[in-house]
Amino acid sequence: MESPQEKLRSWKVEATNRMGIAHLSLAHQSIDVPGVLIFGSPWERFGRYNHYLVIRDDLKTKIIPAHAGELVPGSTEDLVHVLKHFQPKLQRPNAPMTLELDPTNLCFSKDCGGHCFSASYRSLAPKAHIPTETMVDLIQVFSRNGGRILRFDGGGDPLSHPDVRNGFLPELAHQLGLKTTILTAGDAIQTTNLERIGAANCYLRVSLNAAKDETRQLFHGNKSRVSTLFQQIESFAGWLRQNNPSLPIGSTFLISHLNFKEVLDCAIRARDSGINHFSVRRVLGPATLRPFFTNIQLIELEELLQRVRELDTDQFRVFAPWRTIPEEDLNPSKKDFSASTCWQSSFKTIIEPTPENGYKTQLCGRYRGNGIGQKMQMEPLSESHDGKRWVKDWQDSFSTYPISRPQLPQTCLSCIDRGFIRLMDQIIDFINPPEHDFVILHLNRNTKYTEE
Ligand code: SF4
Repeated sequence: MESPQEKLRSWKVEATNRMGIAHLSLAHQSIDVPGVLIFGSPWERFGRYNHYLVIRDDLKTKIIPAHAGELVPGSTEDLVHVLKHFQPKLQRPNAPMTLELDPTNLCFSKDCGGHCFSASYRSLAPKAHIPTETMVDLIQVFSRNGGRILRFDGGGDPLSHPDVRNGFLPELAHQLGLKTTILTAGDAIQTTNLERIGAANCYLRVSLNAAKDETRQLFHGNKSRVSTLFQQIESFAGWLRQNNPSLPIGSTFLISHLNFKEVLDCAIRARDSGINHFSVRRVLGPATLRPFFTNIQLIELEELLQRVRELDTDQFRVFAPWRTIPEEDLNPSKKDFSASTCWQSSFKTIIEPTPENGYKTQLCGRYRGNGIGQKMQMEPLSESHDGKRWVKDWQDSFSTYPISRPQLPQTCLSCIDRGFIRLMDQIIDFINPPEHDFVILHLNRNTKYTEE
C-alpha cells in the first residue's frame, strides 16, 4: 500500500514545518496551518499530537481534534486501514477495529478505594472467566474478519487469567498481526511472564495509584506492594531496552482523596523505574463511585498535577486531565454532545465473561456488566459459549438490537467516549467513504486538548 508521503507526493502536496508552523504546499496554493506537524512512528507520535489534519484527494483539508489514547495500542494507520474497508451501506466495518476482551472477572484488588466501576457486577460472579479455547476462537475470528487492536482489559484483572499471565494469548494475537495491550492492576506481576509478553510486542499498562506501600494497600484493599511493582517494572524495562527497545511501558494513576497527595512522588518513581507513559485518570461514572474533594484539596491537587506535567519529556510522557476532577460525565441524551450515530459501538466492542463461563458482547465500556451500578443499564448485543460466532452476531446487532446505533447518542444518559465518536463523525462526514481517498497528518496545536 502507498505510504501517506508517497500519496502526498503523487498529489503534489508538500507538508512541512517552517519556522515552527505547519505548512502545506497544495497544487495552486500554500497555506500555513496553526500548529506543528508531528512525524515519526506511532509510539514516537504518542501523546505528541492533539489534532488530525485530514487532506482529501481533491485537496480540501480539515482539522479535527484527535489523540492517540483513542486508539492505543493501535494508531492512525489502523484507523485508516479500517476506514478503507468501511461498508457505507451498513455504516460499519466488517468487524470492530478494536476489541476490549475481558478474560475474567477475577481481580486480586478489592474495589480500588471504592471507585471500581466493575465491583458491583464482579461481585455477582467473581470467578467468571472465558475458557482459553473460547478465547482462542474469539481472537482468531476477530483477526480473520479484519480486527486490528486487541486490549486485554477488565472488568477483572486480565493477568488473573493464566493464559494471559503466561503470555500465551498475547503471543497468539501477535502472531495473527494484532496490536495488543494488557491493562492491569499489577497485583500478579511477580508471576507474569513479562518477557514473553514483551517479545509479543504487547504494551503493558499498569495501575500504580500510590507512591507508598501503605497507600497502595489501602487503595487496592490487598497486600500488594507498590515497591514490588516498581522493582518488577524496572527489571522488565531493562529487558525491553535490550530486546524490544521500541516498546514502551505505560502506567495510570486513578485520582482519589485517598491517594492524590502521592501523585507527584508516584510519577517520579514511575519515571525512575523506566516507565515511559504516566497517565493521571479521573474517576468517571455516577456520584456514588466518585471521590469527594474539598476546595482546598482541589487547589493542592492542581498544584501537584502542574508539577507532574512539568516532568514530561520524550522518554517520559505525562498525561494529566484537562477537565476539572469533579466534572460529571457527558449526557448525550441531554445534548452534551451530538453525533449522527454511536461510532464507538460501530468501531469498537467489549467482550466479557458470563457466570457460566460463556461470554457477552457489549455495546461499549459504559455497559460492561450490562451497566450495573451506572446511570443506565443496557442488554448485551449477544451472548454465547461459541467463540467462533461473535463477529457475525455483532454484525447482526446493527439490524436486530432494539436501539439502533444512530439512536444511541440520543438515548444514553452518560458517555465517556465522546472524543472518538466526534472524531469519527467528522472524519466520515468529510471523506464520505469510499468517495474520497485521503491522508491523515498529525498536528500539535497549542490548546488544552492534550489528554492521552
Ligand atoms: S454510552 Fe451510548 S453513546 Fe456512548 S459509547 Fe456507549 S453506547 Fe455509544
